[in-house]
Amino acid sequence: MIRVRFPPSPTGFMHIGNVRTALFNYLFARKNNGKFILRIEDTDRERSKKEYEDDIIEGLKWLNINWDEGPDIGGPYGPYRQSERIEIYKFYINKLLEEGKAYLCFCSEDELEKDREEMLKKGLMPKYSRKCRNLSKEQIEEKLKKNPNPVVRFKTPLSGEVIVEDELRGKLIFPIENLDDFVIMRSDGMPTYNFAVVIDDALMKINFVIRGEDHLHGNTPRQILIYKALDFPLPKFIHLPMILGEDHTKLSKRHGSVSLRDYRNEGYLPEALVNYMALLGFSPKTKEKEIFSLQELIEEFSIENLSKSNAIFSPSKLRWMNHKYIEMLSLEELFKKVKEFYLNRNFEIKDDEWLMEFLRLMRDHIFVLSDIKNLINDIYKPEELSEEKLSYLKENKNLIYEFYNSIKNLHNWNENNILNLIKDIGKKLSLKGKSLYHPLRVLITHKDEGPEIYIYIYLLGKEETLNRIKEVINKI
Ligand code: GLU
Repeated sequence: MIRVRFPPSPTGFMHIGNVRTALFNYLFARKNNGKFILRIEDTDRERSKKEYEDDIIEGLKWLNINWDEGPDIGGPYGPYRQSERIEIYKFYINKLLEEGKAYLCFCSEDELEKDREEMLKKGLMPKYSRKCRNLSKEQIEEKLKKNPNPVVRFKTPLSGEVIVEDELRGKLIFPIENLDDFVIMRSDGMPTYNFAVVIDDALMKINFVIRGEDHLHGNTPRQILIYKALDFPLPKFIHLPMILGEDHTKLSKRHGSVSLRDYRNEGYLPEALVNYMALLGFSPKTKEKEIFSLQELIEEFSIENLSKSNAIFSPSKLRWMNHKYIEMLSLEELFKKVKEFYLNRNFEIKDDEWLMEFLRLMRDHIFVLSDIKNLINDIYKPEELSEEKLSYLKENKNLIYEFYNSIKNLHNWNENNILNLIKDIGKKLSLKGKSLYHPLRVLITHKDEGPEIYIYIYLLGKEETLNRIKEVINKI
């Protein structure tokens, strides 16, 4: 049975790139009737926070990516939080020490720094000097008296090569001489990532490790050495292409929002995010189609259709896709989502009936749910009318008076009647196109562009529209 995992470190809010890693693991598991495991990698005591763990769990749930084993639901290979597995790591550290495959290292930070500088001076790649690799029993005992908390280093073989068989990239060969004796347990008794991840993946019977390519060079060869030293069977590896910003550099805050919660707060729909992220590094068999439900993505997913080249994250494409998902909702569904979204957001939409009308008519202009607030503010709180615009309106006095009177006498308030009313005025004054609509737009919205003016006026309401015209009339 296929067993895959998503093991985030709770050292920050969930990154959008991590969403894709979680999603691909999830899709692969569901496609193959396998198991998807969530594991929290919180061995970095200083940077890990419960708040971030909660953010990750809540984010995944919101996306509808569910797991079969995890810290909140348990499972046969728990615990699923690394900070609760310290005894397990200690057991394997001791095993490696006893078998002579790891050793205690007493070097101080200062010493290591000095060595590093010297190597750099000599033009060598800085590596641990292996000073403590061959200490005698007596030397170790002596040193333990002064420093009872040494780190533990892995005894990396001195020559040979590590072969990484990547399901996507084929066979990659790494010369071992480039790897040094890396730390597997810190002086505070916490395992390092490269060690703990192997113990957990092996004991949790993970047979496919699917993660970002950033792990391929620095981590995977080291992890394979540990698998071998402990006689654990190797999982299959798949290193996903990276996600880059539109300027082709690594996706970061410079490119705008990178955390899932930012997208959530802007009013993206989880289905749209899942759909968009799934297409970064994966091309479904069904071509000429871009909108896929989670269920369809599961059916489409296969390793063969993963891409090896980096994917470009385009915020405007994501916005477009979200718009598509908003379009696909029924008016009632959209209404419900909007109410939910604005529940705790300090923005009151007073009248449900009005909101329904707003959504019916303005849906084309809504890309993310937070657009609604801006659109509504635009209706009720227009910007100040500039002097320039005021004198422009002066030139259109006739039209303005005519419009005021017609609006005043309009009894059946709906968008079609307003449109017809404008057309009638046009006929009467021999105005059409821009010379008819533009002055009215400036008059009511104080702007040169925006949603269709008759819709805007309808939503603004008769009284407010008359007030707005009166205000201008008083000034011209
Ligand atoms: N905790 C690691 C990270 O968040 C996991 C990497 C892996 O998948 O092995 O980068």
